[in-house]
Amino acid sequence: MPIHLKPGREKSLFRRHPWIFSGAIQRVDEEPASGGTVDLLSSKGDFLARAAYSPQSQIRARVWTFDDEPVDVDFLRRKIKSAIHARETWNLKRDTDAFRLIYAESDGLPGLIVDRYDDVLVLQSLTTGSEFWKETIADILLEETGLSTIYERSDADVRELEGLQPITGLLRGSILHSPLTIHEHGLKFTVNLAEGHKTGFYLDQRMNRLRVRELAKDRDVLDCFCYTGGFTVNALAGGAKSVLSVDSSADALELVSGNVASNGLPAERHARLEGDIFQLLRKFRDEGRAFDMVILDPPKFAPTAAQAEKAARGYKDINLLAFKLLRAGGILVTFSCSGGVDAGLFQRIVAASALDAGVDAQIVEHLAQASDHPVALNFPEGAYLKGLVCVKR
Ligand code: SAH
Repeated sequence: MPIHLKPGREKSLFRRHPWIFSGAIQRVDEEPASGGTVDLLSSKGDFLARAAYSPQSQIRARVWTFDDEPVDVDFLRRKIKSAIHARETWNLKRDTDAFRLIYAESDGLPGLIVDRYDDVLVLQSLTTGSEFWKETIADILLEETGLSTIYERSDADVRELEGLQPITGLLRGSILHSPLTIHEHGLKFTVNLAEGHKTGFYLDQRMNRLRVRELAKDRDVLDCFCYTGGFTVNALAGGAKSVLSVDSSADALELVSGNVASNGLPAERHARLEGDIFQLLRKFRDEGRAFDMVILDPPKFAPTAAQAEKAARGYKDINLLAFKLLRAGGILVTFSCSGGVDAGLFQRIVAASALDAGVDAQIVEHLAQASDHPVALNFPEGAYLKGLVCVKR
């Protein structure tokens, strides 16, 4: 089914960017099915790309292919196989039994996220296109991995923008083994696939957890927004003198203690505190408390650029306070997973925080999402997680 673009609006497709916004569309001759496949044509009628149609979203079409080829089972199988093969060549299984198999646009499959947790696949369908092909995709996934269980976690907020309801539950297989235990860089974590954040665990932080392990030795560590304790467990495993884990969720903190114990790490070096980080950091400052490492891994303050300013104030606040709590030579490991705040802006916010805290600090490392969350060069939006390791002088 053809969709005609306005003159000049084919430019982004020439750069191979996979999104077409509603404002770029001149004419839709016959309304396509939600998630159905459409041909994107230039104003002159030339073929540009084949895409999934999303009638309610501002992003009206997402490109499956820039070639004049059918979008069918064989096409999807090729894409899925290539994403799985890429993970094999990166040797991820050496480090972990939980990793991302398919990362949506970055793997040429808009809206589709598939994570592997041991022998269970967790699928998240975010757009009408991935929804349209979901059953076919599920069959291909089982054939190509040899596994038998797929749990669906299509409960991310962005589905609303596509006019899709949340869906969770077994998509393939009959029993869900959850919570289950995953193994990452020699450490164990309990993951609840049905209720955990995202698809169950923050897989994107894998390498940064390991880095924290390497840097934490003999330090007093404050792990802010600790969730189930990915950084806490790694800091203790790295020989931290003490770790204080803070989160507003009592349930998450309960799981932190479980993860510390199951790894045989010293409970006497670990403490946890339930509360609001914005208030607790102020309280710690007023009490004159000090740490040798502060980790800040807050939730997404700005999903899109529209919320960037408000988000910037949030990041500034916590980073400023964290700088104040650090001893000389102390390390700040600070993250932003907001798509609306890019790496440049994040660095400027952290710089402004140090300035206002009256602190002299250096960036010693730039951190990012792990390699199973690749960023296609034609789709920079795929890069969302950025981190800085700063040393207070
Ligand atoms: N660092 C974690 C992931 C952090 S997710 C990991 O590596 O697994 C964000 C966490 O921040 C959630 O657990 C949420 O409960 C917590 N949170 C959100 N807002 C908060 C606030 N204002 N104060 C304390 N915790 C907060």
